[in-house]
Amino acid sequence: MQKENGQHQLSILFANTENSLSRALEKGLGRPVSLVLTENSSSMLSARLRDGVMHVRLHSMFLNAGPDVIDEMAGFIKKRRNSMPLFRRFIRDNNSCIRRKPPQKVSLKTGGRYHDLKELYDEVNREYFCGEIEAGITWGSGKARYAVRKRTLGSYSAGPNLIRINPVMDNSRVPRYFIKYVVYHEMLHAGIAIQKNGSRRCVHSAEFRRREKMFRDYERAVDWERRTWR
Ligand SMILES: [Zn+2]
Repeated sequence: MQKENGQHQLSILFANTENSLSRALEKGLGRPVSLVLTENSSSMLSARLRDGVMHVRLHSMFLNAGPDVIDEMAGFIKKRRNSMPLFRRFIRDNNSCIRRKPPQKVSLKTGGRYHDLKELYDEVNREYFCGEIEAGITWGSGKARYAVRKRTLGSYSAGPNLIRINPVMDNSRVPRYFIKYVVYHEMLHAGIAIQKNGSRRCVHSAEFRRREKMFRDYERAVDWERRTWR
């Protein structure tokens, strides 16, 4: 760290500068090179010959590349058919230099006109899971006017670890015990690892069904669902 004009700067020592990298490629190619360093991890290296100058676009991680990797790149640009094992290994080893896309931010909306999902979630978590479920919950973005079948009342996605509740249920006619039951069902998905039954993916395992029936208002909720949504 250097302090310069009141600003902190982090200096990183690279094996190459942009200039020396460009020069090394020129040497390997035997022609002038115009080098542009990028942060584009989907196209690590591209080259196009224009007016006798090789225009090379290269990921900035290659500032750290050794002469063998640079030679291989030059050979690839020249011949266009090269398996590039050193290049590939270099990318693997320097993977942490790749700027990953930030995780998709899902904004959670839990408040409703009639039902507060956060409140229901916390209640269920306390009453049935010792507060151990750590999933997000949100009203889904689906249009509430659509006809709704049982499956679409709620969903759980393991990737974002997110429970979505269909906004059609944010309605004064939907009893609290019913929406709480749907929240409980999705929280069970979050809590129970999805079991495999042979080759068939069994999302609602026997264990899942057993646990589902432990919901205090299970009979009442199933009955209400039968009368209302079918
Ligand atoms: Zn389910």
